[in-house]
Parts: sequence; C-alpha cells; structure tokens
Amino acid sequence: MTLSKKSKQRLRKALEDMRQEILDEVRVQIERARVKDHTGDLGDYATADMAVEYAHLLGERLRQRLQLIEDALGGIENGDYGFCEECEEPINEQRLQLMPFALFCVRCQSELERQAKTRGETFEEWYGTSRNE
Ligand SMILES: [Zn+2]
Repeated sequence: MTLSKKSKQRLRKALEDMRQEILDEVRVQIERARVKDHTGDLGDYATADMAVEYAHLLGERLRQRLQLIEDALGGIENGDYGFCEECEEPINEQRLQLMPFALFCVRCQSELERQAKTRGETFEEWYGTSRNE
C-alpha cells in the first residue's frame, strides 16, 4: 500500500499546521522571556530555521517534537514517509491521519510499549522511550 497523492497532501498540511502551532508557541515563549528578562531584541525569528534554533531554549521536548515534524515533512518530500522505523512495513493510513508524525506501525508501537513497561520505562509516541520519574 502506498499513500495516494491526495493523502500525502492532506498529511503534509496537517504536519505544517502542527509545526505552525509549535512555532507560534515558541514565539509566545520568546516574547514572554523578553519581557521578563529585558533581554531586548532577540532578532528576527520569523523563519522556521530560526525558530528551530530558539526552540533549543525551550527545552528538549519541544525541540524533539519539532524535529519529528520536520523529519516527517522531509520524508513526504523524498518518498520514504509512512513506513515503520522498526519493521519497515507501511504504517496504516488511518493511523497517519491521527498521528502524521508516527514513526512506528501499531504493532511495533504496542510491542515497544510493552518492552518499555517491563524495564520500568514509559514509551511515548512523541518522544520515544523515557525513564519513569
Ligand atoms: Zn512496525
């Protein structure tokens, strides 16, 4: 199964919307930090690349999330989008509609969750494996 052109367009749009949401959040955070610290002009952060740089300031999670979205968008461009990173099978399209940034198929996802659990870790869709705190 390969994704139709229409599906890819829809998924790309969903990813771009998600990216925009994060970039807007980044912008809000920067404005807040600027007001709080009187750091003055932080320069032009209008472009996506600059926002990615600023996202470093906002912590690992937001940065990783942005990275997943960028990777997915890149994958759509070069045609390797929609395949599971674990078993390399195509990811169910319905799943992609729900989570356009998904890295794994449902089967691998639940297997990874199960494995993480036995190690006392949490497997998160967005961020991969992390140790319970
Ligand atoms: Zn898989």
